[in-house]
Amino acid sequence: MTDQIAIHTQGLTKHYGDVKALVDLDLDIIKGEVFGFLGPNGAGKTTMIRTILDEIRPTAGSASILGMDTHRQSVEIRDHIGYVPGDLAMYPNLTGRDTLTFFANLRGGVDWEFVDELAERLGADLDKKVGDLSSGNRQKVGLIQAFMNRPDLLVMDEPSSGLDPLVQREFQKMMREVASEGRTVFLSSHTLSEVQRVADRVGIIRQGHLIAVEGVADLRSKAIRTVNLFFDEPVEQGVFVGLPGVRDVAVENHHVTLSFDGQMETLLRVAAERYSLLDISTHEADLEEIFLTYYEEGGA
Ligand code: ATP
Repeated sequence: MTDQIAIHTQGLTKHYGDVKALVDLDLDIIKGEVFGFLGPNGAGKTTMIRTILDEIRPTAGSASILGMDTHRQSVEIRDHIGYVPGDLAMYPNLTGRDTLTFFANLRGGVDWEFVDELAERLGADLDKKVGDLSSGNRQKVGLIQAFMNRPDLLVMDEPSSGLDPLVQREFQKMMREVASEGRTVFLSSHTLSEVQRVADRVGIIRQGHLIAVEGVADLRSKAIRTVNLFFDEPVEQGVFVGLPGVRDVAVENHHVTLSFDGQMETLLRVAAERYSLLDISTHEADLEEIFLTYYEEGGA
């Protein structure tokens, strides 16, 4: 089983003085999956990534990548990973092509045919100086340097920032292709819709704590529909609060919004018994809503 694990962390902890940036993280990322690491700003995503890449030392715990200890074998590990940091430093006077040559020389050779293919897919201009590029276009150069060696593991820290939606789609396809080849993608993000489209599993981190790890499909199936009910008179919140499967009831005059994962028949019966129901709409909760639910349940 351990040879199926791309990233393993055990009790991984990082404190900055009083700030507990990462607390006792136990996580296994399986080879061949796209794993979305979701959390708001300051949740500890970058700290986790920098710790497993041996850029910073953990306060406690340990990690391995592809079976190698992230500290003792950090040099070997570098040969197997592509990394897109949150703030990739580049020399502004070098063109994209020169930048990629520079990165490639650190590891031995560029497959220009493949690089040009990646550049074309992302719409990257490799002949301009990177200092003259917009941040989104510079980011494309960063993505290419991570993909171009066909690494076994891609680690990316909010890589989609600044990319326009069409490029994001292409980038998502590229991540899926990596996974379909049995390689692994670890993607930190706060863009829930992206993770929903691209990831197999999602870990949700909050204030340094991993609060849930779920398959994207399971997350959806838990759902949780959002139901809107419209009545011909003002209604009382108390009628809906506490009904089986109902939560997050919000009442605004004639209109009730609630989250629901129970029997629709029961809900409609209760609603229609008390009031005259004019209209109803429901939609499946997206990851954003599910995510908020986790956060609320997770407490402060
Ligand atoms: P973002 O999306 O904003 O990058 P993040 O989830 O990556 O957020 P981290 O950057 O890992 O979060 O930060 C986690 C916590 O650790 C935050 O409270 C942050 O202020 C703190 N922190 C991070 N780096 C340092 C540092 N070098 N010194 C002190 N505190 C730090």
